[in-house]
Amino acid sequence: MIDPFGRSITYLRISVTDRCDLRCAYCMAEDMTFLPKAQILSLEELERVAGAFIALGTRKIRLTGGEPLVRREVMTLFRALGQRIGPGDGRLDELTLTTNGTQLARFAEELAAAGVRRVNVSLDTLSAEKFAAITRWGRIEKTLDGIFAAKAAGLAVKINAVALKDINEHELDTMLAWCGEHGFDLCLIETMPMGEIGEDRTDQYLPLSLVRARLKQRWTLTETDYRTGGPARYYTVAETGRRIGFITPMTHNFCESCNRVRLTCTGMLYMCLGQDDQADLRRVLRAGGTDADLREAIEEAIGRKPKGHDFVIDRHHNRPAVARHMSVTGG
Ligand code: SAM
Ligand code: SF4
Repeated sequence: MIDPFGRSITYLRISVTDRCDLRCAYCMAEDMTFLPKAQILSLEELERVAGAFIALGTRKIRLTGGEPLVRREVMTLFRALGQRIGPGDGRLDELTLTTNGTQLARFAEELAAAGVRRVNVSLDTLSAEKFAAITRWGRIEKTLDGIFAAKAAGLAVKINAVALKDINEHELDTMLAWCGEHGFDLCLIETMPMGEIGEDRTDQYLPLSLVRARLKQRWTLTETDYRTGGPARYYTVAETGRRIGFITPMTHNFCESCNRVRLTCTGMLYMCLGQDDQADLRRVLRAGGTDADLREAIEEAIGRKPKGHDFVIDRHHNRPAVARHMSVTGG
């Protein structure tokens, strides 16, 4: 599938649930209300939509959320999609997930058996107290156990950390060392203004250009052209032999190489994380649409993929630029 700006769309991210067992302060409000079950696509419906995408040339699928591993029976979906990994047309190159790691100790082996090779685990701090504060009630031990279970199961682990002013900004150096020690890549993310969180976001924003400049005082960072099919810019860290990535939606426009679209757990297809235009694939599914109808709806939507996003915090009203939460669209 080629969009109007000549970009080949080969990457689908699926949010399999809006629910989560944590409440990270930059992501959710403490008293989030979750969607009624009837609005959420069943695992069979998710598999059908994924199948239509794969038939149209999608090569990579990432399951995310909310927290993907809290969805009941989610392993059925991993196993079903895992069977579609393989060489040749109409097959997947990669199936992966983004998780907070709390359930990984339980599922790491099964994920590996289903064909998952890499996992992104979100961890913003190595301090138990800060972890509890950022996630509002999480216990860091669970996530750390999950990370090491994934490593033991042979999965490549990438740690995702949101750079937060005053909260973890002076710890990122230690995290880079820790990742190097355990053989993990690290990816730093700028906060994005998505969804009401009950707090002022401008207090949390830390530009990664500043973080990178600070890290360069201690580490030898060399820019590489390594890409994982995502928006991160990667540098090798000479001292550890690992990589560090920077995702900078606020300071750098990465849209020109965007190869992805996102499906929410309610079956809405968003062509851009930072725009509101969408296509309602649930309507097609529940109106008894055939696989051909589904493919047609997807192709029509790709034809509307916008050139790029335009995140700006509406400072006047202190409102997020995009009203829906990251947990709905899938980070
Ligand atoms: N629950 C899983 C997790 O935390 O990894 C998957 C979903 S979470 C929404 C995906 C990623 O989005 C996480 O790495 C999280 O830190 C990031 N994220 C959430 N809200 C964000 C925001 N407002 N700005 C930047 N990144 C955000
Ligand atoms: Fe949950 Fe992930 Fe959002 Fe944290 S970032 S609240 S773990 S969905």
